Amino acid sequence: MKIRLLVLVVLGGCLLVPVVSAQDVEKDVDVRVDDLQSVGAAAVPMNDFVYRIEGEGAFFLVNTAEGAVLIDTGTSLPQNEEQMRLVEEHATGPIRKVIVTHAHGDHSGGLPRFRQAIDAGEVEFVAHHRYRYMSRLQDDFLPYFKSRYHVLYPTRVDLGPESPRPYWNMEPTRPVFPGADYEFELGGVKFVVIAPENGGEGEDGILVWLPESRILFTGDLFGTLYPMFPNLYTVRGEKYRDPLDYIDALDIVLDLKPVTIAHSHFRNAEGEAYIQASVTKMRDAVQYMWDEVVKGMNGGKTVWELMRDIQLPPELELSQGHGKVSWSVRAAWEIVAGWYYYDTIANLYHVPPSAVHADLVDLAGGPDLIADRARRYLRTDQPLEAIRLLDVVAGNESRRVLQTRIEAVEQLLTEAREGLGNYSEIGLLQADLRASRKKLAALGAKPGARRE
Ligand SMILES: [Zn+2]
Repeated sequence: MKIRLLVLVVLGGCLLVPVVSAQDVEKDVDVRVDDLQSVGAAAVPMNDFVYRIEGEGAFFLVNTAEGAVLIDTGTSLPQNEEQMRLVEEHATGPIRKVIVTHAHGDHSGGLPRFRQAIDAGEVEFVAHHRYRYMSRLQDDFLPYFKSRYHVLYPTRVDLGPESPRPYWNMEPTRPVFPGADYEFELGGVKFVVIAPENGGEGEDGILVWLPESRILFTGDLFGTLYPMFPNLYTVRGEKYRDPLDYIDALDIVLDLKPVTIAHSHFRNAEGEAYIQASVTKMRDAVQYMWDEVVKGMNGGKTVWELMRDIQLPPELELSQGHGKVSWSVRAAWEIVAGWYYYDTIANLYHVPPSAVHADLVDLAGGPDLIADRARRYLRTDQPLEAIRLLDVVAGNESRRVLQTRIEAVEQLLTEAREGLGNYSEIGLLQADLRASRKKLAALGAKPGARRE
């Protein structure tokens, strides 16, 4: 991590905490979200009693004189076997408690292996009281979500009935509620489990605090990368994550003053000064976005204008490789005002805009003329306008339409890769390209061909 420590002040023999300013916190992190897939299983000691069990979803083993505590359980992928073997190897006693930071599959995937012991009362299953609710939202709609994940991660999500369940819908035996921390001591180690109202990637996010060693286990409060702009809306599909609640959760972190943030992906964050500066920057970036949304909505701007105009000022710039400001702006808008934008009464009814697209294509003189007009937008570097036009021809694409679409999406993909590098945006653009190339191949054209 490229942390520059600005000032290390030594005054009369008294060594002060180094000062790290918000500008010294990385704007871009040196890993990408898709690098997660290549993280191998390993047990990395953090001190003489805590291990980070590395993997696609890292989790933590805390050994005490009276047994061990697991904080998260890793993914349900085959890697989980390897990770659990490492737990067996390094645990100095039986697992007494399993704390799951939230219901996502890369954290709760190993939970079923404790089901029997949990039911028998041998292992306590600790989670946010909203854990069950959040896992139900995924569980009840599993076929629907699988088809979405398959678009985003085609090589990883299998649509077959045998593919592993990513979410585990189990009732915590010790639910934790906001404002009522669960404090316990096991084998001489103190633990505090804190439930923010709505912390990070889902409203069931919890924090686990070891006050003596000042390690804070944050699950996905900070998402995949650290530091980054939070993923307040995931296009994978989930409830919106509330910006104001998120700010409150970050204030809980700042008040604790941790020296280590045991973050679930890629690496821990170390050093009180660095952590205070980076968390403050993340909090202030969300606050900035929120204030701009308030100003913009009250000032009569449309949601589209705010998605375009709200950008982080240079001193608050953060990676948008996972969370994206413009998508969060729209999520904030809809949290506040819902889906009806007071734009057209047509949106109050069930007939979608596409119901009259065929009429427009007909009036325009056919799909190729639409493609030619879209190409004009491409020449003036307006691929988004080109895509809107080409969407009108969806389901009725000619070769020229598909070739123009491929060109427009390739332009967007280059911009996305060279710009924010947002993993989900890139994934969806690639999916769109795949679909167009497939249709083009079905029409008998060479998939790589750009122009007729
Ligand atoms: Zn995660």
